[in-house]
Amino acid sequence: MSDLLKVGVALGKVLGSVEPDLTTESVPLLQALGRVLAKDVVSSIDVPGSDNSAMDGYALAVVDTNEPLPVVQRIPAGTAGQPLQPGTAARIFTGAPIPSGADAVVMQENCTEADGIVTINTSAKVGANIRPRGQDIARGSVVLGKGRRLRPPDLGLLASIGCAEVEVYLPLRVAIMSTGDELIEPGAGEPNAAQVYNSNRYTLSGLLQGLHMEVVDLGIVPDNPAATASALRKAADIADCVVSSGGVSVGEEDHVKREVERLGRLDLWKLAIKPGKPLAFGYIGDTPFVGLPGNPTSVFVTFCLIARPMLLKLQGSLEHEAPRLQAAADFQVDRPNRRQEYLRVSLEHRDGRVWAASHANQSSGVLSSVSHSDALAIVPPDTTVAIGDTLDILLLDALY
Ligand code: AMP
Ligand code: MG
Repeated sequence: MSDLLKVGVALGKVLGSVEPDLTTESVPLLQALGRVLAKDVVSSIDVPGSDNSAMDGYALAVVDTNEPLPVVQRIPAGTAGQPLQPGTAARIFTGAPIPSGADAVVMQENCTEADGIVTINTSAKVGANIRPRGQDIARGSVVLGKGRRLRPPDLGLLASIGCAEVEVYLPLRVAIMSTGDELIEPGAGEPNAAQVYNSNRYTLSGLLQGLHMEVVDLGIVPDNPAATASALRKAADIADCVVSSGGVSVGEEDHVKREVERLGRLDLWKLAIKPGKPLAFGYIGDTPFVGLPGNPTSVFVTFCLIARPMLLKLQGSLEHEAPRLQAAADFQVDRPNRRQEYLRVSLEHRDGRVWAASHANQSSGVLSSVSHSDALAIVPPDTTVAIGDTLDILLLDALY
């Protein structure tokens, strides 16, 4: 049916609509994990800075290796050796610079040393066991580009070129609010029959912290127009972006849509996505707003597919979407669905393939199956699945 909007189309509209407005700061490297680079980092040095030994062994000239050689110097890592005279060898250790005059390192397991004389028991090739200068990074090259979200090895890479501080964007400030008269906070006593604990707040806060964004938490917002409008106004005032959960269906208790329309503009979409059909996107004044559905798993899925790429774009990151991998379906889908389904699956490696087993309970209200899954398996609209069919998957760990 044409009233359902495809996930990719909705994401395209959202990404096409928002533009980052970013401020930069300089932070010490150890505080830069997860932050987004505000400019290219160019190396002013070669790494390694000199040809150096990849092994513990003997540095020598290959032409000399037919004869036993006197070992005339010892070069541990951290020491610069002397030029090597023809017909001699140097004891050398991993990471130590190759002395001029040597053109290979023979590993110690292939040598015999006695009384200061080394015999080479193998044939050596020029360049063997030498890590050439600039092998990792060439001076003047871009090591990491603007828009890169810094991962743990990136910090090591930046350290390897002597970078002590990096220029990054200020963390995006994201306001979250949980709408619903039925919600109570964990710690606020036992829920009565009509109440549920507010879990979306914690899922969203965790997802945003994982993206190294600043969370402005407006807590629970009751289901009435005045409270909704006041929370939305406050959120848009203090944050760069507002994310709400609940209250975007079409029932008369769903106030978010109407109040955002009053304060700005809004599209309410029925997404061709399961779980998570209703989704609102708009602006409160100039502040982007995403209204996620209320069901805990719908919140998780729509956040990951729509809100996350949008927030990453607003944060200045140039990588918006998580990579898709593939796995074999260890389940069947006999009845096609008009909506693209994101099934919670566990992964297992078996018979040379990665198999995705669907979690027994895929209800949008069931959060435990998200916690106990490894990935979301994507079943396109109007498609059946047979056991062994190849499906695209999104690893959950790649979304955090
Ligand atoms: P709504 O979209 O507001 O109609 O909510 C849909 C379903 O999600 C209802 O069963 C709500 O009780 C539930 N729900 C909404 N918000 C939350 C929340 N913050 N934590 C847990 N469940 C919620
Ligand atoms: Mg509600």
